[in-house]
Amino acid sequence: MTNVPFLDLKSQYWEIKPEIMASIERVLDTGQYVLGAEVAEFEREFAGRVNAAHGVAMNSGTSALQLALLAGGVSPGDEVITVPLTFVASVAAIEYVGARPVLVDVDSRTYTMDPEAIEAAVTPKTKAIMPVHLYGQPADMDPITEIAKRHGLLVVEDAAQAHLATYNGRSCGALGDLAGFSFYPGKNLGAYGEGGLVTTNDAAYDRTLRMLRDWGQEKKYEHVLKGFNARMEAIQGAILRVKLRYLENWTRLRRERAHQYRLLLADCPGVTIPYERAGCEHVYHIYPLLVEDREKLRKYLHAQGIGTGIHYPYPVHVLEAYRDLEYRTGDFPVAERVAAQVVSLPMFPEMTSDQTETVAHAVREWAAGA
Ligand SMILES: *Cc1c(COP(=O)(O)O)cnc(C)c1O
Repeated sequence: MTNVPFLDLKSQYWEIKPEIMASIERVLDTGQYVLGAEVAEFEREFAGRVNAAHGVAMNSGTSALQLALLAGGVSPGDEVITVPLTFVASVAAIEYVGARPVLVDVDSRTYTMDPEAIEAAVTPKTKAIMPVHLYGQPADMDPITEIAKRHGLLVVEDAAQAHLATYNGRSCGALGDLAGFSFYPGKNLGAYGEGGLVTTNDAAYDRTLRMLRDWGQEKKYEHVLKGFNARMEAIQGAILRVKLRYLENWTRLRRERAHQYRLLLADCPGVTIPYERAGCEHVYHIYPLLVEDREKLRKYLHAQGIGTGIHYPYPVHVLEAYRDLEYRTGDFPVAERVAAQVVSLPMFPEMTSDQTETVAHAVREWAAGA
């Protein structure tokens, strides 16, 4: 039986194990286990890689989004526009700062924020827009930025799935006022634990973020702001520095696999493959297909030892936890259709060309009559 896992974090670890072990040992030897030199270097290197002036490392992507909103001045009573088709953390981060998430539908081709839907959602309370670079595809930032400028709104990118993705030649993380990245293990750049980072080109935001993540202090025990414990661990910083050196290559491999899927599945009946917006480099955190009956396809693939995922089965506005937002089924038809039809195929840099072919072949077989 073929066996293609949905994701394989261990084979990547085996490839780089000696370097990882050396980096962990280096940290343990220093006696500095939280923040410290490795984290500071990682911040500099990561920000440099996406062409942002500053990087502030955090304990998770969720903290990165939350503190980015706070540093940007979002406060209780404000509204922040985002999308219902995302991981729940995008919406949660907005609520953590006391603001109200206002949702707009996504574009039917790219599954990212539909710029044409934004204007109608702007009210006098709107403070920020948070586009999500979903699955690794940059949101359509030019029109979003234009609308934000016109209304004086902050733009915070949810770049949790978009390490090294580019939009008209510029990297995600340097397209808005602030951006939040996640280094959750399964993300394109993953820690061996939790991690996140905010990028910004604004020195004042950078300074505020450094205080917010460390109890609001600039000097020890001089608490200038009401802050948080959102610091990155030194071991994660050291590990991420090692992995960052491979990220460009891993991203190229993801794009090669996606290209291969495209060639093999573009004309497959009943299957919609991801659209890649012109001028953008999608980094394929996820390789999503849309099909009418995803449970049948998943069963067919699983029977052959092929793993799949669903990102995400429910748009945020229909979730029980967010009933208080008072949206209803039918409010965001595109997000609802994608959530109902999406199936994520195996996608990771170490996946071989043969494995990709096996998966695509199985999808074609299923489409032909299973
Ligand atoms: C992973 C993710 C987050 C949250 O990141 P964590 O590091 O898990 O806290 C936020 N938004 C999106 C779109 C994500 O995929």
